[in-house]
Amino acid sequence: MTKLEILHRFFGYSSFREGQESLIDAILSGCDAVGVMPTGAGKSLCFQIPALLFPGITLVVSPLISLMKDQVNSLVQNGVRGAYLNSSLTYSQYRAALRNAKAGVYKLIYVAPERLLTPEFLDFAAHADISMVTIDEAHCVSQWGQDFRPSYLSIPEFIRQLPKRPVVSAFTATATPKVREDILQLLALQNPTVMLTGFNRQNLYFEVRHPKDKLAETFRILEEHPGKSGVIYCSTRKAVEEVCSALIQRGYAAVRYHAGLSDEERQSSQESFLYDRTPIIVATNAFGMGIDKSNVSFVIHYNMPKDLESYYQEAGRAGRDGAPADCILLYSGQDVITNRFLSSHAEENEQLNEEDRALVLQQTEERLKAMTFYCHTTGCLREYILRYFGERSSAGYCGNCYNCNHLFREEDVTEPAKTV
Ligand code: ADP
Ligand code: MG
Repeated sequence: MTKLEILHRFFGYSSFREGQESLIDAILSGCDAVGVMPTGAGKSLCFQIPALLFPGITLVVSPLISLMKDQVNSLVQNGVRGAYLNSSLTYSQYRAALRNAKAGVYKLIYVAPERLLTPEFLDFAAHADISMVTIDEAHCVSQWGQDFRPSYLSIPEFIRQLPKRPVVSAFTATATPKVREDILQLLALQNPTVMLTGFNRQNLYFEVRHPKDKLAETFRILEEHPGKSGVIYCSTRKAVEEVCSALIQRGYAAVRYHAGLSDEERQSSQESFLYDRTPIIVATNAFGMGIDKSNVSFVIHYNMPKDLESYYQEAGRAGRDGAPADCILLYSGQDVITNRFLSSHAEENEQLNEEDRALVLQQTEERLKAMTFYCHTTGCLREYILRYFGERSSAGYCGNCYNCNHLFREEDVTEPAKTV
């Protein structure tokens, strides 16, 4: 089969998107490869298609159990032989999956990074025919990134222990230049083909408001988007509860989503929103990973997120269909304080040693500052974001953000001024 036949037959798509085909070609030619593409660009296919064409197994290192489950389930539904190995399996399930893997049942095996250097897994890997190791969410290897996972650092050691070096590919959506460098170095990629597709999403309109009353402002925004589908992100569960109740009281159909709810309620909120039964979802950042809904016409941030990586990822869930969509952030000084509090109490930092933790906190603070400046800049908001991600845009004027449409125009009043 060719890669195009696989695209049709297993995934049901008729053509490749920007960047996919050349990455797939590079990987199939035996090159290491890195794909830096925004969320929703379609990075999974870039390793799944080569995985189906390679003679051996592809291991996919992935940081989140829920992400592994979703991806493997949809592969299996499409008729691809896939499995995952992580802590959601009981020991006997894990053993059984490894036995199947040894017998060559799977083409793609998703594995948690913590498993790689365990004796059982190493023993399997030593005898398996591994064609490729793919590292998804590769920014987790970097302390400069937002989701540093120390266990990602063991990936190159695992690869070194394999009898034959496989092709290594890495994918991420959030790569500032420093993180990108870390990915190349810390994962010990060899002469990789790097594919960087544009982060710009011209159909997204950006605006920051500094309202006295965020709830009243939210109602105002909703009135500007009658009947449209949208997400309202809040930084705490409590805020989700308050905003969602206020909306319902006001007669809006809205569902809530945060990690404090039962699995059933979260599932039902998510589906209700995805299938257009309820237009508005009020959520913490627990909502959205791997969500693929095309017709989201606005994303309101009721609170400023902790960094631009999070902001752009969350705001970027709007307008996937290419239609104009609004990304509006409601800023208050309190948001800075809340974020500082949340990051100093972040659970994921507890496993780090003191030195690492200090470093991570320092990076977190830097990112928070950059996020806060975004909320205060009078320059082009899009340019600010793209520059942060290391993309140079020449214009400094995008014509589709509040600052371009209002602040710049105010400076350009020479003609009316003359007539006064
Ligand atoms: P990423 O990992 O880059 O965030 P995913 O790999 O999860 O993105 O893909 C996002 C969505 O785009 C998925 O629903 C996927 O099936 C879809 N998709 C990927 N490639 C194509 C394509 N060539 N044509 C149409 N849809 C695609
Ligand atoms: Mg992905």
